[in-house]
Amino acid sequence: MLPPSSESSPSTAAESPLKLLLFVDQRPGIKERVQSIQEHLSQLPAPYGFDLKVISVCEHPYLVEHFKLIATPALVKISPEPRQTLAGQHLLQKVDHWWSRWQQELTSEPPPGAGHGENFSASLNYTTEFMRMADEIFQLTQETESLRDHLKFKDRIISLLAHELRNPLTAVSLSLETLENYWHPQSPTEKEIDPATIERLLHHARYQAHVIEGMITNLLLAARGTSTALDIRPRKMDLNQLCREVLRDLRDSFIQKGQKITTDLPSDIPPVHADRDRVRQVLVNLLDNAHKYTPEGGLIHLSALHRTTQKVQVSVADSGPGIARQQQEKIFEEQYRISENPDVDGYGIGLSLCREIIRAHYGQIWVDSDGKGSTFQFTLPVYRG
Ligand code: ADP
Repeated sequence: MLPPSSESSPSTAAESPLKLLLFVDQRPGIKERVQSIQEHLSQLPAPYGFDLKVISVCEHPYLVEHFKLIATPALVKISPEPRQTLAGQHLLQKVDHWWSRWQQELTSEPPPGAGHGENFSASLNYTTEFMRMADEIFQLTQETESLRDHLKFKDRIISLLAHELRNPLTAVSLSLETLENYWHPQSPTEKEIDPATIERLLHHARYQAHVIEGMITNLLLAARGTSTALDIRPRKMDLNQLCREVLRDLRDSFIQKGQKITTDLPSDIPPVHADRDRVRQVLVNLLDNAHKYTPEGGLIHLSALHRTTQKVQVSVADSGPGIARQQQEKIFEEQYRISENPDVDGYGIGLSLCREIIRAHYGQIWVDSDGKGSTFQFTLPVYRG
């Protein structure tokens, strides 16, 4: 086995101006190959000496990328400038060919240590420092790339949500405008509006306001990025009441699509210890998905179950297309969408946010689907007084 990197230099002087890096892989017989290259180099005329570092490509993949190497073994001259890479089958012949040119380049370089005086021997090992910097550059490049991806994702979400926010906002404005048009406290007889219409308009405005609220929550969660932990404020809460409230808010959109909702919310479900707004977000996301992905006239069933003494389980089942087994985990990843439904609006963050919220409550979320419909389930801790 080859050491990750080793030095070989007849002059052993770190300050030798001819710096070479020999990149090798871990193939059998490589140790002998390295030895023969080292021996060959040591027999070449080198009045200034040279500094050779052997580098295993497996240990330093970033250097392979940095030097754009495509074959091993490869010998890279990093000093004096210009940098040059020799590789391939006839490596030693190529070295022989270039060696005298490299020696000439050295004669035009300032003598090693010039201007450094006695302190020179204490100077940094150029090659080691170089490798450390290359490593840092590689890591920074990776980080920049992932940040750039994340920024792109945020940009996309922000523009999508900004666009989608318009519809519910327009709907709220329309409802309020209509109410305003009919509302004349000074002369109530001017135009009549029946109480049922008032109720319908108010309900519509309230529902759309919830939709906006949900989108803003998604936007804030997405903007927060992936690094910070989710801030939740769990309290004692009545899950059944929340389920009914959410269903009431979403009822209109289900009716519009001719979908039927059934529930099984037993009255003996104990209170849970959870952040009401976040759990509402999970329910809205799951029910909204059930609504989106289930065709017209489909069935949606919301139920709660006191599963163990410590957990309550909520299920949202639909009669939609179902989710293939190999995708059942992936759909909870950020930005993951199943390609068969590109026509349905979405940006693939709803379920990843649900998972994050449920995990922050020490619960679990998953989907069961055997090809006919999907059942999304999540658990929450029972409140212990
Ligand atoms: P979005 O709905 O915005 O694409 P989600 O994270 O909510 O993002 O969902 C991820 C993917 O999971 C969706 O794109 C869809 O393919 C699939 N999915 C979610 N809910 C359902 C469902 N009830 N029925 C079928 N597929 C679903």
